[in-house]
Amino acid sequence: MEKTTQLYEGKAKKVWATDDPDVVIVDYKDDATAFNGLKKGTIVGKGVVNNKMSNYLMQLIEKKGVPTHYIKELSDRETAVKKVKIVPLEVIIRNRAAGSICKRLGLEEGMDFVCPSIEFSYKDDDLGDPLINGYHAVSCGFATQEEVDTIKKMAFTVNDVLKEYFASIGVELIDFKLEFGKTSDGQIVLADEISPDTCRFWDIETHEKLDKDRFRRDMGGVEDAYAEMMKRVGLD
Ligand code: UDP
Repeated sequence: MEKTTQLYEGKAKKVWATDDPDVVIVDYKDDATAFNGLKKGTIVGKGVVNNKMSNYLMQLIEKKGVPTHYIKELSDRETAVKKVKIVPLEVIIRNRAAGSICKRLGLEEGMDFVCPSIEFSYKDDDLGDPLINGYHAVSCGFATQEEVDTIKKMAFTVNDVLKEYFASIGVELIDFKLEFGKTSDGQIVLADEISPDTCRFWDIETHEKLDKDRFRRDMGGVEDAYAEMMKRVGLD
């Protein structure tokens, strides 16, 4: 598999075309941003952690019946994935209150939810990824009703798979963001990444944060937290 031209450079990844029109290569960087790009920095080694952890989790999820974009890990930072058209929704599942929902609803961080919740944001950096509902997604043509239903079902299955897996390595999955894409033959698949950049992970006993919140909140120990997650997943 050969990289040809660079298609896109985002905040944390570059995407390259290949000689196969249905395959692209994702290249994970150490660059970190938060608060819609307002805060910028570097987390040394993050690209390697996110690449390897995301690939491990995508394979686990695929085995449990949810299709993903994953094809093959090519190096520490590079992975071949199916070329998809990203559905312009950030899909967020929450098991406990943290981050934006605490501000929005005045909840205390760590409040346990009665059952997992799902929400959608419209992927648009200029608008700050505004919160929308499933009706907006369909009415505005971001996805069909059938696609929204598929995405919801897959997202809750991913939550079940990940919650159980992370609990087995002493980590509580607080919340996370997923993105879905459409392949050239119209199939909805899980895309983007699943990593400490896109999930909140707390140690199950101590509730120590093992994710990007350490960067967002200048807590220190950012690289150590990513390395600890890598170790617990057994990838170090
Ligand atoms: N998240 C993400 N990208 C975003 C927004 C959120 O990966 O652009 C993840 C975030 O890491 C957390 C979950 O989605 O695990 C919920 O984030 P929240 O809505 O609380 O927003 P935040 O507090 O991160 O701004």
